[in-house]
Amino acid sequence: MDVFVDSKTKVLLRANLVNEFAIKMVSVINAKELAWFVAREIVGSLGYEDCVIYYLNEEANCLVQTAAIGVKNPSDQEILNPLTIEIGVGVTGHVALTKKSMLVSDLSVHDNYVTDVEPALSELCVPIIFGDRLYGVLDSECKTAGAYGEEDRKIFETVARMIAAKLALIEQTELVKQYTAELEAKVEERTRELKVANDKLEYLASIDPLTELVNRRRLDEVLAQEFERTSRYQGELSLILLDIDHFKTVNDTRGHQAGDEVIAGVGRIAKVMSRISDTPGRWGGEEFLIVVPQTNRDSAVAFAEKLRQAIENEKFFGDLRVSASFGVASFRPGETIPAVLQRADEALYRAKRLGRNRVETETTA
Ligand code: GH3
Ligand code: MG
Ligand code: MG
Repeated sequence: MDVFVDSKTKVLLRANLVNEFAIKMVSVINAKELAWFVAREIVGSLGYEDCVIYYLNEEANCLVQTAAIGVKNPSDQEILNPLTIEIGVGVTGHVALTKKSMLVSDLSVHDNYVTDVEPALSELCVPIIFGDRLYGVLDSECKTAGAYGEEDRKIFETVARMIAAKLALIEQTELVKQYTAELEAKVEERTRELKVANDKLEYLASIDPLTELVNRRRLDEVLAQEFERTSRYQGELSLILLDIDHFKTVNDTRGHQAGDEVIAGVGRIAKVMSRISDTPGRWGGEEFLIVVPQTNRDSAVAFAEKLRQAIENEKFFGDLRVSASFGVASFRPGETIPAVLQRADEALYRAKRLGRNRVETETTA
């Protein structure tokens, strides 16, 4: 290094180079890249003949050659068979063990030297430590004896401190990334679980447990949706109200439990006979409402009639027969939901009055 004329200039020049090195190092983002960057800088910018970075493999408790430029790797290539050195063995292993730098001026008289490719005569090795934590060692060898001085040791120690701080930062960043990813995964999982729980709640809140048909709350929502759709597309929509005849007698003669089973049975018939687009639901007590979209009044009456016959023909508990009365009404443009419901209710009332077990519809079209 003939640029280092006198000792003052030498110190200044090197301080400047180390400074530049620190600035360039900012953009390095991973540990392996950092090892190569340091090796290249020490040989390239700082002018040493050789540089090897060993990182500590904590699990195996040994040093692993991670980047090397110079004597050991003149062509600056990926190290295919990286040298591993046990902690305590050789100059590098000793530095790792003591966490103290070593400057050897004549390796030929040193009994603790591990030869890698070519024997060297001088060696400068400093630990890469941050706090108490050892990350590896920074090593440089030279074929000639006495190649390194205390000034070189200072430079290497400064560089090693910077590498250690950078490695600690990289490690922290990795930890934060990992933690964030774990957190995101947990949040995603919780969101999925919440959605499942919500869907379940939504389902439970809209289903009548006895008949497993939708309840009145959900029927109100379906009515609103279907009315909106019908109004927008000027389509047709009919409502069928169904009330089991003399149901009180069923309860009185067979008991409330049997009454429940009859309600559930009528619900099943309504479900089985409905199309997928229809919504049969429990309106309350022994009364059902079937929302029948895209269906005019006559077709809805025909559907109600089929249903009436099916209920009439069903035998409960082997011998019990029940019947039901029906009121049918169809949506008229511009009218409200309660208005159509009221006409269906009036029709049902008429069916009851006219003797039950029959289908009645609104009187005026
Ligand atoms: P109608 O032909 O005029 O409809 O006579 P009905 O006896 O069916 O009518 P009413 O309204 O007088 O009686 C309905 C009965 O249905 C009264 C009520 O106790 C019974 N009921 C309502 N909900 C349930 C239920 O969930 N289970 C049982 N078992 N009975 C119910
Ligand atoms: Mg009733
Ligand atoms: Mg009834």
